[in-house]
Amino acid sequence: MKPVWNEQQLEIRDYYEQVALQRVRPSAAERDQNLSFDRQIWRDLGASGLFGLHMPEEFGGQGLGLREFAAALEGFARGCQDMGVLVSFVAQVGLVQAGLLSYGSEQQKQRWLPGLIRGELLGSFAITEQGCGSDVRAMKLAAHQELDGFRLNGQKWNITNAPEADVVMTFAHVQDVGERSVSCFITATDVAGLERSEPFELLGNRGTPIGAFDFNDVLLPPSALVGEVGQGLDVLYFAFLVERVLTGLVITGCMEPLMEDCLQYSQERQAFGRPIGDNQYIQGQIVEMYCQVEVLRSVLLRAMDSMEQGEDCSSLASLVKMLATENLHQACINAIRIHGNSGYRRDQYFERLLRDSIGVFFAGGTIEIHRHVIWNNLISELNQGKRSRQGLNLGVYQKADVTAFTQPTEEALA
Ligand SMILES: Cc1cc2nc3c(=O)[nH]c(=O)nc-3n(C[C@H](O)[C@H](O)[C@H](O)COP(=O)(O)OP(=O)(O)OC[C@H]3O[C@@H](n4cnc5c(N)ncnc54)[C@H](O)[C@@H]3O)c2cc1C
Repeated sequence: MKPVWNEQQLEIRDYYEQVALQRVRPSAAERDQNLSFDRQIWRDLGASGLFGLHMPEEFGGQGLGLREFAAALEGFARGCQDMGVLVSFVAQVGLVQAGLLSYGSEQQKQRWLPGLIRGELLGSFAITEQGCGSDVRAMKLAAHQELDGFRLNGQKWNITNAPEADVVMTFAHVQDVGERSVSCFITATDVAGLERSEPFELLGNRGTPIGAFDFNDVLLPPSALVGEVGQGLDVLYFAFLVERVLTGLVITGCMEPLMEDCLQYSQERQAFGRPIGDNQYIQGQIVEMYCQVEVLRSVLLRAMDSMEQGEDCSSLASLVKMLATENLHQACINAIRIHGNSGYRRDQYFERLLRDSIGVFFAGGTIEIHRHVIWNNLISELNQGKRSRQGLNLGVYQKADVTAFTQPTEEALA
């Protein structure tokens, strides 16, 4: 069978699996229990190069291709058993960094990307409000244009990284500009008038700080506007494509070891005088997990190839997110069932992953919304021979010439 990863990609994957095993996994259960986020781990991950493998060198990245980045992320997710850190990662790298790279001005990229890539800054991407989630146009955050910038009033809610973030990319309706009013802004979170909540008590994803932002007369300079007035939905739509693909990678990385653990246990655990894996019911569940990982990886690689070619891969990205979320949730339940009583214990990671898998049903758009996206794409292709969304800045991940991966030195990681 043709291997998915070439030799260098395997080296990258193994390297980041080790980083995760050593720096993230040992304290994952504690963070879940205490609802805490570890800034030192974030800085360590920055120093390991994980946040910037695929980002341009001028901003502190390594300028590698998306496949190298994918290998790194899959390896990292394999090792860490911590959906909390992974959700924080996807919010920053898949949403904030992607949005900035594609729509940020040169000055905005220079100001924010190096700190984010080094892990010195934590980024947050705030769309959802208490009154609106899937229907993003219904947001109420308002930006009034004034002589010296934009004055923001309103609230964002259930936002990954919000309680700890140093920088937030957010979306508001600029007033009195007509229908195309949703616009994107980026600001430091210590700006006057911006308040953050404590982390929310949630069922899962407890190792990522999720909370609210309150904007009380926050005055942002014109340089805080990302793209143009009215371009917010383009920024959002592009960032969502990247976020969905990254979520798929993370879930593939979580699911494969889940399948391997079940396989191993099926050979060790005896019932009725033989390994439980001798039963076709058990085999079927494990084979299904294997097939789902392989299908997911194939669709992911297609989506990433499209991205590198500067194509709109929105149906593939939504397919990835749907498959990934549903499969992970079912795989967690099956892993607990296969492990019986010992799978149901809180000192196993299965129950944590099961709780986390429910949050991923919502984060980045629900399954119903992904079906909606795919349906809309199908209809516009039927009616117009193409997808209707025009003018997206899709070319930022075009295939890089750089191929050499350099592991960080021990001093950089210390
Ligand atoms: C772990 C986690 C992290 C998150 N991080 C962020 C973040 O960083 N930034 C951010 O902005 N938001 C974030 N969110 C919020 C997330 O984006 C929203 O929860 C999501 O968009 C759904 O919105 P809602 O919860 O308001 O549900 P609603 O939009 O109110 O939907 C409720 C139900 O109705 C269904 N529904 C709605 N419209 C339709 C339709 N047209 N057709 C069929 N069914 C429909 C939905 O699928 C859902 O089942 C996060 C959520 C979670 C759980």
